[in-house]
Amino acid sequence: MRVDIITIFPGFFAGPFDYGILKRARAAGLVSIATHDLRSFTHDRHRTVDDRPFGGGEGMVLKAQPIYDAVQSLHVSPKAERQRKKETVILLSAQGQPFSQSLAQELAATERVVILCGRYEGVDERVNEMLCDREISIGDYVLSGGELAAAVIVDAVVRLLPGALGNPDSSRFESFGAEDAVSADGLPRSTHGAGGLLDYPHYTRPAEFMGIPIPEALAGGNHETIRRWRRRMALKKTMENRPDLLEKIKISDEDREILAEFGWRENWDR
Ligand code: SAM
Repeated sequence: MRVDIITIFPGFFAGPFDYGILKRARAAGLVSIATHDLRSFTHDRHRTVDDRPFGGGEGMVLKAQPIYDAVQSLHVSPKAERQRKKETVILLSAQGQPFSQSLAQELAATERVVILCGRYEGVDERVNEMLCDREISIGDYVLSGGELAAAVIVDAVVRLLPGALGNPDSSRFESFGAEDAVSADGLPRSTHGAGGLLDYPHYTRPAEFMGIPIPEALAGGNHETIRRWRRRMALKKTMENRPDLLEKIKISDEDREILAEFGWRENWDR
């Protein structure tokens, strides 16, 4: 995969891609990541990338011309051919479609991703119309620029590339894990496995820390006991922190009973 990031702060990315899985994926040649300074595509003495908004109002807007020239310099395919060629151009924006694990999976199946980072009040909308295939937001809050969002997206996508994780099942059996991690009756195919739920809690040695022991179910080594406990805890955590996810996944009768124990039934029947 090749990732190109267009930004007014190329130095920002010196750190985020130089650690852990991303560093290894780059070293192994699974992904190459290049940053491009938007100011290199300006034609005036002051290297101006922004201007005042038409219609008045607060702040400045990133101009279309430098971004257009920057994208042209990357020789991406015309919009109509990009899907077939597994290329995509992304505009980062608080107004975009929400980024998610399934969108990360979709992007991991492409071969070329160009990411445009906005700043100030945002980017001239003609950039979105003319050059971009998707407008993506990483959450319902406003960042001061697209750089952090770009780092988040690249991290989430690169770890899904085949070969990026030591154990390829890790990305199937984690929070928001792949659908096929679950059998037809909604139960995970492994003692691990989120199956669309949030991950269960994890513990490591020592077995007792500051007087708090690990859960008894994990101490005995009985696989069925462990599987049941993990499913229970994944259901509990999802119910407490992300009840919306329970509406989207297959729930077995056993799950329903567990959720009822945790007080879910009232909501369920609503
Ligand atoms: N005026 C914009 C609005 O109200 O939606 C906010 C602009 S923001 C200060 C500047 C840039 O940060 C945006 O152009 C975008 O590239 C980036 N940005 C801000 N929030 C974001 C988010 N939630 N997801 C992705 N990018 C974001």
